[in-house]
Amino acid sequence: MTVSSPTDFASLPLSPATLANLVTLGYQQMTPIQAASLPAALLGKDIIAQAKTGSGKTAAFALTLLANLNPRRFAVQSLVLCPTRELADQVTLEVRRLARADDNIKVVTLCGGVPLRGQLATLEHGAHIVVGTPGRVMDHLERQSLQLDAMNTLVLDEADRMLDMGFFDDIVKVARQCPKERQTLLFSATYPEGIAKLAAQFMREPLTVTVEAQHSGGQIEQRWYEVKDKDRLHAVGQLLMHFRPASTLAFCNTKVQCRDLVDVLHAQGISALALHGDLEQRDRDQVLVRFANRSCSVLVATDVAARGLDIASLAAVINVDVTPDPEVHIHRIGRTGRAGESGLALNLASLDEMGAVGRIEQLQKQESVWHPLDELKPTGSGPLLAPMVTLHIQGGRKEKIRPGDVLGALTADLGYTREQVGKINVNEWSTYIAVDRAIAEQVANRLSRIKGKNVKARLLED
Ligand code: ADP
Ligand code: MG
Repeated sequence: MTVSSPTDFASLPLSPATLANLVTLGYQQMTPIQAASLPAALLGKDIIAQAKTGSGKTAAFALTLLANLNPRRFAVQSLVLCPTRELADQVTLEVRRLARADDNIKVVTLCGGVPLRGQLATLEHGAHIVVGTPGRVMDHLERQSLQLDAMNTLVLDEADRMLDMGFFDDIVKVARQCPKERQTLLFSATYPEGIAKLAAQFMREPLTVTVEAQHSGGQIEQRWYEVKDKDRLHAVGQLLMHFRPASTLAFCNTKVQCRDLVDVLHAQGISALALHGDLEQRDRDQVLVRFANRSCSVLVATDVAARGLDIASLAAVINVDVTPDPEVHIHRIGRTGRAGESGLALNLASLDEMGAVGRIEQLQKQESVWHPLDELKPTGSGPLLAPMVTLHIQGGRKEKIRPGDVLGALTADLGYTREQVGKINVNEWSTYIAVDRAIAEQVANRLSRIKGKNVKARLLED
């Protein structure tokens, strides 16, 4: 006999096929937010769920909407609203992974910045689940290319961020067009005032579940360094050259600070890229691909730009500026030390910021440990360059390029080894290939054909 604990997926009313799929995905136990929300969500209750980034919120709503879904009914039955295309893409991927147990569930992404025509054609072929941004979903509703009368589940993901981005009215409008008899799920990393106001507009007696932002356990080592403002950016370089983390997310309070820091790091021979709200979607995608494929070791971001991104296993987080909001500090450092790995959070603070440091100590119920800056000495050899470099090719899925074709061109045709090739991302219109830094330039010159088609490879350099 097996005894199931309250965090076993098997304790939930899910189909055997779904449970088996969770096992193959390596989801052994529910995360705390899943355990807190899924039992009630699967009973059909409206839920407001708040938990930090990376806590598994997507699966909490995805399993619910899949349980509500009838694959034999060819109509849109769930709608997930997300703030950005990138987050919508992440959600679509996770929903598809979780839907693998049932055959032929069609998930369609509807976001701005992509031609409408393709989306119209896709919708005509029928979809069970739509994941999209509020603006573009509104467009389709107005054109009547999207019908919601068979819809039973509405999800607002990253609701706090959607509010930040000014989507309040669009969300309310979309919700008004959904059938009254439906389940509504709202997920958010933080709980600003606007959320309750939003929920009051169209949720029915929602159950609110919160998982404490406090990071569990002590896997994150936090170190504090006092700096003068004029030395701050240089100190980031010192931290990086001393600890040499394989991947770092550095948080700044402003976009200007992000840009300045990237310039300072480049001058010190450190590969770094900035991620902030002013980037065009295409550039944002590029930055994230390059960070994930190990051709950039430091990502410099504002809180807003980094929110919601599922970036796996960061060796370190650097707080370049202290955030005035202690909750935000906990979210920031929670990006390192995931899944039982040890993490490193390095914090710079000037005398002016000591008030904010005090608030963080209070919230963490933990005193800060201070270290002198001059104990930081460069270690290892040479500059902190990422091991890989990214090549960009104009052309992607639309040109029928597949990752296997790219790998074939590099190994079979040009004679490189598999080890010299890293991650290959094929998007709709472009392809990104990570290759060993030592051969990058050579590959850029030599790679001219993939699957018989002429291509032009361009090195993406800082
Ligand atoms: P959030 O939306 O809360 O920021 P995500 O839904 O993006 O978090 O999940 C973060 C990561 O955790 C994803 O890579 C996801 O595949 C993984 N994950 C989710 N639930 C589980 C689970 N029960 N066990 C193991 N990994 C999980
Ligand atoms: Mg999420």
